[in-house]
Amino acid sequence: MLGPEDRARLDALFERMRVSNDISMGYPAAKDFDYRDLYRFLQFPVNNIGDPFADATYRVETREFEREVVAFFAELFRAPRDDWWGYVTNGGTEGNLYGLYLAREMLPNGMVYYSEQTHYSVAKNLHFLGMRHITIRSLPSGEIDYEDLRETLKIHRDVPPIIFANIGTTMTEARDDVRRIIHMMDELAIRQRYVHSDAALSGGYAGFLHPRPSYDFEDGADSVAVSGHKFLGAPIPCGVVVARKRNVSRIARAIDYIGSLDTTISGSRNGITPLMLWYRIQELGVAGIRKRIEHSLELAGHLVDRLQRASIDAWRNPNAITVVFPPPSPALRAKWQLATAGSISHAIVLPNVTREQVDALADDLIADVQSKEATWKIFG
Ligand SMILES: *Cc1c(COP(=O)(O)O)cnc(C)c1O
Repeated sequence: MLGPEDRARLDALFERMRVSNDISMGYPAAKDFDYRDLYRFLQFPVNNIGDPFADATYRVETREFEREVVAFFAELFRAPRDDWWGYVTNGGTEGNLYGLYLAREMLPNGMVYYSEQTHYSVAKNLHFLGMRHITIRSLPSGEIDYEDLRETLKIHRDVPPIIFANIGTTMTEARDDVRRIIHMMDELAIRQRYVHSDAALSGGYAGFLHPRPSYDFEDGADSVAVSGHKFLGAPIPCGVVVARKRNVSRIARAIDYIGSLDTTISGSRNGITPLMLWYRIQELGVAGIRKRIEHSLELAGHLVDRLQRASIDAWRNPNAITVVFPPPSPALRAKWQLATAGSISHAIVLPNVTREQVDALADDLIADVQSKEATWKIFG
């Protein structure tokens, strides 16, 4: 039993988190989940150690549910029927690391290409893996500059390319067009290649958008990573990576100690997050997921409209739930926990966000600009 002081500290922490959670709109974490049904599983030392598709000696595990989660995403990502594999990761970063790891095993001399707008964790992953890489320019939207990519691929035609495609960049939710990149490599007669799609946020709904972004296995990707705590929502960071099975077979090693295959990055693996993702998928179904993205898209459009009508230079990429605008005052950035990079800030209109919250944010941003203009008048 904890003493009263420690209890009071926990209560204070709970209250601080509750208040902060209510008003954050700058980071991609959906909040509309309720996993109370699963709390009882926290009494077990759950561990999905080893391969989700292979038997293991340790039986306090949720592999059966993990396999269903991976199968759901494999279908959403249109993976080839008998040639996919995957697991529930600790987040998008691990899924991306896994994709790059497979790419390196396939093409040990490969060169990784990614755009300037790539997530900060990717450079670190490449450093871990000791992979050579080239940064490609980004277009103002945040999408990769296809001309710069073509020119660079042309110069290095003797080195097999590994394309790290962004399916929703962190700041502007821009999506690189995988089919277009594949076509480009075909034209350059580059046959040995690997494409990984980083769909951390957008992977949860890209398959339901019209037009459908070009990012998945049928479009030419060899692996796709998505975060679970972003669009679907979870209290513990998590994600899913799906890859071609025959590529994974090349790295699998049987380990006597765990009675399983060592195909994943971590040894011990989270058995609770697969249960949460499974629960979320069952509860929402495809119809529920569609409804959530439609809600977000509509409200993101509404936010852009309101800001533009007030002459604020706000915009969003096609079918994006991320709304971009010039950075407001530090006080407002702190209040709404708005991420800012260079000359832009953004708000992410996740499915839990209500029209009232969007209007409150718009009111604040508009008042902020007006007070800045008033200051310019006084001092100008
Ligand atoms: C969030 C994000 C990541 C990292 O995902 P985590 O789940 O935080 O590890 C990678 N790439 C992009 C584009 C992201 O937005």
